[in-house]
Amino acid sequence: MKTDSFKLRHIGPSEKELDSMLDTIKVDSVDQLIYETVPDDILLDNPLNLPPALSEQEYSASMLKLAAKNKIFKTFIGLGYHEACLPAVIQRNILENPGWYTAYTPYQAEIAQGRLEALLNFQTMICDLTGMELANASLLDESTAAAEAMTMLFAVRSRDQKKNNVSKFFVSEEILPQTLSLLQTRATPLDIELVVGNHEEFDFSDSFYGAILQYPGKSGQVYDYADFTKKAHEAGIKVAVAADILSLVTLKSPGSFNADVVVGTTQRFGIPLGYGGPHAAYFATREEFKRNIPGRIIGITQDTNGNRALRMALQTREQHIKRDKATSNICTAQVLLAVMAGMYAVYHGPKGLTYIANKVHSYTHTLSQELKKLELQQVNATYFDTITLKADAAKTKEIAESKEVNFYYPDNETVSISLNEATTIDDINTILSIFAQLKGKTATKVNNIDVQTTTLPDHLQRTTEFLTNEVFNAYHSETELMRYIKKLERKDLSLNHSMIPLGSCTMKLNAASEMLPLSNPQWGNIHPFAPVAQAQGYQEVLKQLEDQLTEITGFAGTSLQPNSGAQGEFAGLMVIRAYHESRGDHNRNICLIPSSAHGTNPASAVMAGMKVVVTKATEEGNIDVEDLREKAIKHKDNLAALMVTYPSTHGVYESAIKEITKIIHDNGGQVYMDGANMNAQVGLTNPGAIGADVCHLNLHKTFAIPHGGGGPGVGPICVAEQLVPFLPGNPVIPSGGEKGITAISSAPWGSALACLISYGYITMLGADGLKSATIHAILNANYIKERLEGHYQTLYSGERGRAAHEMILDCRPFKAHGIEVTDIAKRLMDYGFHAPTVSFPVAGTIMIEPTESENKAELDRFCDALIAIRQEIAEATAENPNNVLKNAPHTQAMLTADTWDLPYTRAQAAYPLPYIADNKFWPSVRRVDDAYGDRNLICTCAPIEAYLEA
Ligand SMILES: *Cc1c(COP(=O)(O)O)cnc(C)c1O
Repeated sequence: MKTDSFKLRHIGPSEKELDSMLDTIKVDSVDQLIYETVPDDILLDNPLNLPPALSEQEYSASMLKLAAKNKIFKTFIGLGYHEACLPAVIQRNILENPGWYTAYTPYQAEIAQGRLEALLNFQTMICDLTGMELANASLLDESTAAAEAMTMLFAVRSRDQKKNNVSKFFVSEEILPQTLSLLQTRATPLDIELVVGNHEEFDFSDSFYGAILQYPGKSGQVYDYADFTKKAHEAGIKVAVAADILSLVTLKSPGSFNADVVVGTTQRFGIPLGYGGPHAAYFATREEFKRNIPGRIIGITQDTNGNRALRMALQTREQHIKRDKATSNICTAQVLLAVMAGMYAVYHGPKGLTYIANKVHSYTHTLSQELKKLELQQVNATYFDTITLKADAAKTKEIAESKEVNFYYPDNETVSISLNEATTIDDINTILSIFAQLKGKTATKVNNIDVQTTTLPDHLQRTTEFLTNEVFNAYHSETELMRYIKKLERKDLSLNHSMIPLGSCTMKLNAASEMLPLSNPQWGNIHPFAPVAQAQGYQEVLKQLEDQLTEITGFAGTSLQPNSGAQGEFAGLMVIRAYHESRGDHNRNICLIPSSAHGTNPASAVMAGMKVVVTKATEEGNIDVEDLREKAIKHKDNLAALMVTYPSTHGVYESAIKEITKIIHDNGGQVYMDGANMNAQVGLTNPGAIGADVCHLNLHKTFAIPHGGGGPGVGPICVAEQLVPFLPGNPVIPSGGEKGITAISSAPWGSALACLISYGYITMLGADGLKSATIHAILNANYIKERLEGHYQTLYSGERGRAAHEMILDCRPFKAHGIEVTDIAKRLMDYGFHAPTVSFPVAGTIMIEPTESENKAELDRFCDALIAIRQEIAEATAENPNNVLKNAPHTQAMLTADTWDLPYTRAQAAYPLPYIADNKFWPSVRRVDDAYGDRNLICTCAPIEAYLEA
């Protein structure tokens, strides 16, 4: 055996454990298990065609070589992306720390207080800087956030009766090009009419419901938008502002000139460029839109004892409940990046941020002055960090690149230069030398630049304080910040403590060797709009990853652009839409979706302008084929697509799948496969083999990108031949299909930096390791199923009684004992485990997915815990809810209090099984009260009164 094989590190069960697990499952071999699990007619005949697996050492060496092919120029392109300085203490203690990056979305608040606090800091920072009342805990990128602003304002427009049927949205021509492209993508299916123009010439006509402005504009010009907003409001037009976060430190906040929504990216708060991402975008608005905000909001509430506790507020499970009426399809966001950006503000505090903003501005001012001496004409009279010049673009580019410098060239006669936190005086001199050469002059050398407060006119300057809260003023030494980060980390249960068995949301190993390249600036420090020739390392990796995913899905092409699974769904449906339109089928807009589908499916279909028709499930939980056929035939003239999850969200390989995809094709539709359950397919079968046309993959589930506490995600789409021409493009860097749809994300290759992780995963496992991972995922699930036999009822299984890679346990019968599924989820915390997925896809159930990365010992501990809990349920009665389940989770404070008056012992509360003593995890709060928090919504560190007064 090759003991340096990565497969041995990734896959949990050892050879030795395998035999006893097969015994428990009562099969002779894994082959027999697979035979009993996966329908024969979809099994692949051949192994995946992938290069041989690399060992971890070989991979590391190959990545260094590839990294060296990226040329790191000094880049002043701007356009929403700026070189930033990631404080080492944040890099080491958060970005490189599995305690932070392997956490799940904080649905189980009692074991997530650390990242919830970090996200509350983020929201507070956003509210302070934008001057708004409410902010969410991150969106996918600035352009997506801008599109969400456009659609949110569209959705609420009828609150003003005059605006009921009004559908025009004004877009300032100063908007970033990628944002304009994304607004186009999102506007078309909803019949929103975009009107792009100069905001100073806008006529505030009644036919507009909203507008978006860029602050400062893409040319760098800082406009005073107070007059615009005032006139817009008089005409009933709502105003969104896309604002640069660093500029807001010294500029008047959009809240102070009455913006309705403020969006932007927080990338320049310490996050590496990463050739496009991941970075956290923000979305801030007024209190009155609190029920319409896309994405997650963190709020303050209390626990059972009345102590302060945090949890996700309001729309926590919004798509699952509202489905096609959901406010957005955002599920996975950018939590880890929001945590880091918020921590950057904690680290610098208001003084530090002010210094950075003033420094960037002072350097820009000096540059502007010196360039004037070289007789260059500057287009923008006001600026924060960006100046735009009239100069020969081609000549400038040639000289600049010879000095390893990148500017932005909007057209042949224009050059734009955007400075940032990392800009040095040497850089200023280099820039000056480039223009001196262009002009055939000599530049005077700049030796010193005084950091001064802004040179902008008073009416553009911020006058209010920000980040006054204690947390932004207490942790400025490294010792203090390191301990604060550790304090928060200790409150959170992550994969470095125990299994997180989340059905549908695959939480497997995120190996260190996959993560290491992310720390290398040769990968971190490339701008997404840098010339492709400078990013050859990235281009090679991304191309190979696309090819790997295309091979794994059995399709013909891949786009890495979508930043989450749900964005992938939207992208895939838009590609299907473009395909139908290219054939003159403009009327195809019906999307069939089985009742068991994930809530993002209907939400995405609506965003893509489709009408959702729900198809029924059979008693066994499968798609009701006759119902599907009937509906497909009924809608055959207008059928656009079927969205189907495979294996089903119930964890079953439906044997009728090929018949189902054929019915759709026979009636003119395309088949969209939700790939969240791809972990049950890789190497065994694939979406191509079952007859699908497009699927998204959740690289943050199946392909080892860590969840980061709720993001980042990467949701590429893989498509069949006929759809390849329509893959999404980018307005700055030519990419995508030849008839590509407009942008789905800000950056051409989405979150390229995170893609390295999946590339590492596939490259180190190879065809054999990937298949083995799938088999072990199925093995582990079926092992749990057998061990729980007789204790819990499993809902749904395949025709031969097997689960796929996950299973649903029915907890509804326990209502007779007064026990709800939540009680089980909370009690698992006392046993040191994160709950499985609760109440999806069936209310009152839990869905368990162990993944291949857990070994038998961990699976046994988890099963022992569930079996012990089952015994506790048997002893519970509905009449007397004072029991160990209803009171769960139990905190250290309870256990060590002087009094103990519960009807069970302290040991029963906190140490119910022997294994726990060895590695006890303490929830930091008692059960949180969700309803209280929603009634009393507080989403920033400071009390809401502070904002009402302001
Ligand atoms: C996770 C998931 C999604 C959404 O993916 P995100 O990356 O969170 O946007 C969609 N469908 C299913 C079945 C999922 O499990």
